Amino acid sequence: MRYSRMFIPTVKEVPADAETTSHKLMIRAALCRKVASGTYTYLPLGWRSLLKVIAIVREEMDKAGAQEILVPCMQPAELWDKTGRSIDYGPTLFRLTDRHGRESVLEPTAEEVVTYLAAGEINSYKQLPVNLYQISPKFRDEFRPRFGVIRSREFIMKDAYSFDADPKGLDKSYKSMYDAYCRIFKRCGLDYVIVEAESGEMGGSGSHQFTIPCESGEDTIVYTEDGSYAANLERAAVDPLSKEKVATKIASPEEVHTPNIGSIEAVCTFLKTQPKDMVKALIFKTPKFPPEFEKYAAAEEAKHDGRPVIVGKGWAPITILALVRGDHEINMEKLTQAIGGEHVELADEPTIEKVTGAKVGFAGPVGIADKVSKMIIDHAVAAMAAGVTGANKTDYHTKNVVPGRDFPLEGENITVADIRYAVEGDTYNGKKLLFKKGIEVGQVFKLGTKYSEKLGAKFLDENGDEKPCIMGCYGIGINRILASAIEISNDDNGIIWPISIAPFEVLVTSVNQDDEKVAQVAEDIYRDLMRKGIDVLLDDRALRGGVKFKDADLIGIPVRVTVGRKSVADGNVEIKLRSETRSTKVLIEEAPDRAIELVNSLKEKLKT
Ligand code: ATP
Ligand code: MG
Repeated sequence: MRYSRMFIPTVKEVPADAETTSHKLMIRAALCRKVASGTYTYLPLGWRSLLKVIAIVREEMDKAGAQEILVPCMQPAELWDKTGRSIDYGPTLFRLTDRHGRESVLEPTAEEVVTYLAAGEINSYKQLPVNLYQISPKFRDEFRPRFGVIRSREFIMKDAYSFDADPKGLDKSYKSMYDAYCRIFKRCGLDYVIVEAESGEMGGSGSHQFTIPCESGEDTIVYTEDGSYAANLERAAVDPLSKEKVATKIASPEEVHTPNIGSIEAVCTFLKTQPKDMVKALIFKTPKFPPEFEKYAAAEEAKHDGRPVIVGKGWAPITILALVRGDHEINMEKLTQAIGGEHVELADEPTIEKVTGAKVGFAGPVGIADKVSKMIIDHAVAAMAAGVTGANKTDYHTKNVVPGRDFPLEGENITVADIRYAVEGDTYNGKKLLFKKGIEVGQVFKLGTKYSEKLGAKFLDENGDEKPCIMGCYGIGINRILASAIEISNDDNGIIWPISIAPFEVLVTSVNQDDEKVAQVAEDIYRDLMRKGIDVLLDDRALRGGVKFKDADLIGIPVRVTVGRKSVADGNVEIKLRSETRSTKVLIEEAPDRAIELVNSLKEKLKT
């Protein structure tokens, strides 16, 4: 391609809304442009790179035995109701209604539709295993789209779905996807970390995330120095703390008047105590329906004699009292696990007042166990010698509350569990936990039978018994690969592309396009490289050398051949890597082969 004919509108100014390096560089290097919040148009350079990522992903998926399909982005809401995800996905799910009043969703992922396909087509164990994938746009109404294409509302995902006859089969399918992911990220030039993860609203029994460590990542990786443990923050387990020791006997609980003082900080200031010496009591309940689902709720309730029903789940109105130390944050994933997978949310004011008999801000664990369905106590609370907590009485707190003495740590509806986020200073398996930021580029899940049971994807086994298919699902954010590659490989002047996903492999710059000899030498090298199958861009613009070099640095093509008047007069051109400052003089006739050698050596490093 010729730069002069290509649409590469690079910009000097840093876009005002860009917070991360990759976002800034993707706009400046003319890879993409924002259309609206969380939606982007890819320009020729960006799209070329994206196509290269897609080609790598496709190759590795095919090699791993997955088969490419394409399902519609617009999917019947009915399928989503059947699995319960029209509720679980919450407001992130885009919905639309057609002229006949039929409800659809825009796919954020495709478990429902692919399982529906399997339900119709698979009936015998002889058809298993099967793994189907697609590479297509996905839609999520993210609360806060940010960081350019890293968290957008429309993005391209590779999503694969495996169907197996038994758990062993699933393990094998999972492993083959896991291995394919390792190859994909290596080939894309990304240094990845694999962490244990929660399966979130996907459901299922096991999951790993592939994360690219970098400062601007939104995810936190928690790991031990020896590499024996790595998990994301939602998942990261912590050792229980050892019981705090006290020299003297702790006095009886004492109520103190704390008028209008409800928050942890306010209570600490008022009572001259510290957050770590407080017990935070949080009340959760099963949601009825979020407001935006009211009309679905009404329709469902009508179907069930007015009884509130959560689609696909059955209705179990429960209230949970969760206790964490004042300086700790509750981890909803862990809480959900501790209560057996039930989806709960913070209770509303009337519920809190009903349970505690006090205004919001004064909930506490004393004398409340029989007023809630379950009481879940974090390990760290159980380890406290004593604490300050809400008194279940408006405007009052209680001091000297001793876990186990003043409220129970055991009982039919009482569990002591790990329900908080790990923090600095925590250990796991006795080893210190370390934290770093990262971008999640892919995730693999063992789903089990959640979807196949609800959507009837069943098969007859060797004995003629009917069984649900055992499923796995596997996602990769194509756009995030691009953004994270830039995030970890750049300098002050621009992008430094890994060769495998660079829009072009070689850039030939004609520094003095007005000089016929220079233009001709550049043209010859360009043509020779093209003939030899290299992806090459010729900068043939009639611009000053300085401008061209700035653009070259910005767009980051890995191998550069620079053709200038002076060196051409000596029979030479200059070759350099974008990643290095040093350039080498080579004879004009040798230039194409030298450039190809460099391309090959860069490619060699990304081989799996
Ligand atoms: P996150 O936690 O970042 O919201 P997720 O865990 O919900 O992502 P998955 O459902 O696992 O995402 O989707 C598979 C992959 O799709 C992710 O690993 C990520 O690379 C990509 N992805 C998810 N959400 C977005 C988004 N809003 N914009 C761009 N890529 C995304
Ligand atoms: Mg994920």
